[in-house]
Amino acid sequence: MYILVVNAGSSSLKYQLFDMDRQEMIAKGLCERIGVDGLFSHWVPGKGVAVKKIPVQMPTHTEAVAVAVKYLTCPENGCLTDMNQISAVGHRIVSGGPWLIDSILIDGPDGQVLKDLHKCFDLAPLHTKAHLQGIEGCMNIMKDVPQVLVMDTAFHQTMPPKAYTYPIAYEVAQKYAIRRYGAHGTSHRYVSGKAIEYLGKPDAKIVTCHLGNGSSISAVDGGKCVDTSMGLTPLEGVIMGSRCGSIDPAIVPFVMEREHIAVEDMGNWMNKKCGFLGLSGVSSDLRDVRDAAASGNERAQLALDILAYQIKKYVGGYAAAMNGLDCVVFTAGIGENDPDLRYAAMKDMEFFGIKMDAERNRDREATVISADDSRVKVLVIPTNEELVIASDTMRIACGK
Ligand code: AMP
Repeated sequence: MYILVVNAGSSSLKYQLFDMDRQEMIAKGLCERIGVDGLFSHWVPGKGVAVKKIPVQMPTHTEAVAVAVKYLTCPENGCLTDMNQISAVGHRIVSGGPWLIDSILIDGPDGQVLKDLHKCFDLAPLHTKAHLQGIEGCMNIMKDVPQVLVMDTAFHQTMPPKAYTYPIAYEVAQKYAIRRYGAHGTSHRYVSGKAIEYLGKPDAKIVTCHLGNGSSISAVDGGKCVDTSMGLTPLEGVIMGSRCGSIDPAIVPFVMEREHIAVEDMGNWMNKKCGFLGLSGVSSDLRDVRDAAASGNERAQLALDILAYQIKKYVGGYAAAMNGLDCVVFTAGIGENDPDLRYAAMKDMEFFGIKMDAERNRDREATVISADDSRVKVLVIPTNEELVIASDTMRIACGK
């Protein structure tokens, strides 16, 4: 059974085709610079890169889907003879707001599910627009293939009101559905599930650290999310590539007034001009920031110190919130690949039951990176959001 997973971002569309009988990804691709000067890449595991960054006209995500399907079914590089071999399509949705709270089958182009997705527009404008175009493209090309939405926010729906409510005027919060929704839920769900399996402890208390270009940290108690660092939007929480994370809200009008930044530009400032990039002045990519720090750039070093310090504070705070801690998990680009960051965040926590093993932490194959006598286990678990989306899609669309 073949399931196609589509991840439509603001100017890109990623896809992965899964053979669910083998639980394996058999092809993947990336449409970049959609609406600009479209670039297309397609990979087939085992065969390597089939095409890399070739120019293709893709005015919107709808055309990007057509390009993807063409490559998935072409005789040289494809894995399918006919697109009707695809049993269902799963779409990654960044925010389902209060309306779409669990993975769900689209009930037609005029059905309630897409109406609900339209309502999420204000919560994630760029992403929701891209999602809708990607869905439209898939529905046009694969008319009879079921389409499923899998929300990044779904895993966080189990948070209690004290964790998701902002202490702002109640009526305003109600009117605009302002609350903490969180993000990266599919990743937190996947890695916490793997950690529970690994520990053999279904009631484990876990802090999952998804650290990538965007980063979020979650508290997962017995497989359920009880708190998370991202909020109404993916701007809250720890310092990120170019996002500021949590700051004193008073800084916003303060900067707007003095720097003459308009309301419509302030979101861009906080999302694109802050974080590692804004603080270090070097780059939003942690590897560049680390290189700069190594050659003596103090601002770059400060950015790294801030991330490690903030992770430490979240781990401590969430352990307190859960009344215990069995395990900390690191995942995503930074979490999986940067041992120095993991070490800096987890060191000096022996009093807390966390003792790192410096050698294991540097071993790229290691899952456990804490010492044998560490009461709290520290794990590195590569995330696989696409597999979760494919599994949900198969369960919902095909009943398997
Ligand atoms: P993601 O959003 O999960 O793709 O993660 C992107 C982030 O991971 C960027 O900040 C990269 O610098 C970082 N990253 C990727 N590979 C490495 C690596 N080998 N070492 C350190 N950071 C890395």
